[in-house]
Amino acid sequence: MTQHFIVIGNPIAHSKSPEIHQVFATQVGLDIHYERQYCPDDSDSFTSVVEAFFHGGGVGANVTVPFKQVAYDCCVARGGLSEHAKVAGAVNTLLLNKALLERGVPMTEALYGDNTDGQGLVNHIVSLGWPLKQARVAIIGAGGAARGAVLPLIEAGVQQLTIANRTLSKAQTLVTELSAASPHIGAHDIQTCSMHDLTGQYDLIINATSIGLSGDTLPLAEDLNCQYAYDMMYGRTLPFLQHFKARTAQISDGYGMLIGQAALSFERWTGYTIDVAQATEALQQKP
Ligand code: NDP
Repeated sequence: MTQHFIVIGNPIAHSKSPEIHQVFATQVGLDIHYERQYCPDDSDSFTSVVEAFFHGGGVGANVTVPFKQVAYDCCVARGGLSEHAKVAGAVNTLLLNKALLERGVPMTEALYGDNTDGQGLVNHIVSLGWPLKQARVAIIGAGGAARGAVLPLIEAGVQQLTIANRTLSKAQTLVTELSAASPHIGAHDIQTCSMHDLTGQYDLIINATSIGLSGDTLPLAEDLNCQYAYDMMYGRTLPFLQHFKARTAQISDGYGMLIGQAALSFERWTGYTIDVAQATEALQQKP
């Protein structure tokens, strides 16, 4: 029987999720239908779209900009959240909580939210062979993507974590909130600084700002170096990566993170584990 999935966003036409999930389904021999679902930018419309989808027999939904926080609110009030979604304050993967359904809870009250973005990032970094255990890591940016990355990075064993942001107060607030949300994070001494003050040597620097969308360049300090540089953006020339490549760092964009988070969503929904390297190769061969 065909299993149905959607990705909900606004805009949504650019989303690569249907192609990615189709490659996963082919890999494990599953019959799926995965569609892009446009939704007007308000929470009532989002709730209606989600309820109609699951009432119609849908198995799982991905959530993208601008609905990740709205999806979080929906799940708080209903079927619950994974630890990663709770800490991230955002949901990118929706499914039905089977335990609640079995107890007779109505479908609309059994909506469960997970967040696979940060773990997708970590899985990609590990697959590149870049060590995270005991690593000194700096994240530039303090928005939703940075927030979702902190717990998975700490779980992966990073030793020292610094969050640098254009607006310093936002980095400080982020660390206060994350430390309150998770004892695991609270046990770490996460440093914050403004972007200009990020200097010295790191094992890994992650660009989690949205600057790549504008084509502008981050004002990086001369005395800032790393062995590995990762930009969460993908699909365009990224000055951040060029900067560190010229300083002999190994570099990667965030395309593997996109596939990694999708693979984890697919796993939550279907129980199948995806060979991400093989799926990436299959996607690269597509026209
Ligand atoms: P947010 O809007 O939540 O955060 C944006 C961040 O970028 C803030 O820290 C902001 O700083 C900073 N910023 C924006 N413009 C500038 C600028 N001109 N100079 C310096 N800093 C700037 O975005 P998200 O966290 O949701 O997304 C961040 C990036 O991660 C995006 O590029 C997104 O595409 C990517 N991403 C990739 C994923 C993947 O699968 N590969 C998944 C999720 C996100 P300030 O606080 O000062 O405003």
